[in-house]
Amino acid sequence: MKNVSVIGAGTMGNGIAHVFAMNGFDVKLIDISADSLERAIATISKNLDRMIAKEKISAEDKEATMSKIETTQNLEDGVAEADLVVEAATERLDLKLNIFKTIDKNTKADCILATNTSSISITKIASVTTKPQQMIGMHFMNPVPVMKLVEVIRGYHTSDAVCETIMELSQKISKVPTEVNDYPGFVANRILMPMINEAIYTLFEGVAGVEEIDTVMKLGMAHPMGPLQLADFIGLDVCLSILNVLYDGFGQDKYAPCPLLVNMVTAGELGRKSGSGFYDYSGGGKTLVVASNFK
Ligand code: NAD
Repeated sequence: MKNVSVIGAGTMGNGIAHVFAMNGFDVKLIDISADSLERAIATISKNLDRMIAKEKISAEDKEATMSKIETTQNLEDGVAEADLVVEAATERLDLKLNIFKTIDKNTKADCILATNTSSISITKIASVTTKPQQMIGMHFMNPVPVMKLVEVIRGYHTSDAVCETIMELSQKISKVPTEVNDYPGFVANRILMPMINEAIYTLFEGVAGVEEIDTVMKLGMAHPMGPLQLADFIGLDVCLSILNVLYDGFGQDKYAPCPLLVNMVTAGELGRKSGSGFYDYSGGGKTLVVASNFK
């Protein structure tokens, strides 16, 4: 395996490209947005500079990594040589199905098709391809260069050989893979998202403010980040779409997204990436949003 195509150059895509390139793979980073591609290259460069400053890599390592990444807005060309495709585009079912229909027609016969989806059924995505046995979930965690886990999700038809290849490959790029089955939210988000949703309900019902809720979970439960700060970090739109997948998939009220989360996403308050969510990031730092309707 030599050529990896990463589709989507947002929060996750740039990190996935970074990690594969740093481990010697030739990476094509693909996005419909030229701005996203430009921002992704700048982010990778900045993150590598940070690694140089911490003496984890040399300036030559950075140069070698950057030289391994090519960008393109053309999906068909971008996946033509791939041995592995990792899709990390926006978390929307229709969008992912369209991407995989296109990829299916334009990749080599033995190319492995992976998606970084947080919650969408791998089996459903595989159903629009002609090679469901080559389809697998490769769920990286944010920030990708730092976080060790890859949740490897077997779809209904994923072959043992493809699963083994992805488990080994994840280790080769210094990650720790964990194999799970394809049910809504898999393992990570099935457990994490109800906790985040409950934190939002706690705020919505006026039990406590943003800072108080995060402090309880940080200092009381030894979480490195409070659930509301984590939700901002993940993206509130991403949290909402995962909760909707859990709600639809299990049909249980306990997964119903909190109305406050729905309102915030509708209002464009998406967390860190939009400049504000539960906290305000516009000044660079983390300032508490003081919103009167929260209390
Ligand atoms: P993001 O919004 O930061 O980036 C998505 C990118 O996809 C954007 O640059 C957008 O231009 C691009 N895109 C949209 N349509 C496209 C298309 N048709 N072809 C190519 N590119 C397209 O999103 P993100 O947070 O990086 O999430 C990407 C995926 O990773 C989602 O499936 C999400 O569920 C998953 N994920 C996210 C996190 C997280 O913490 N944000 C963690 C794990 C997994």
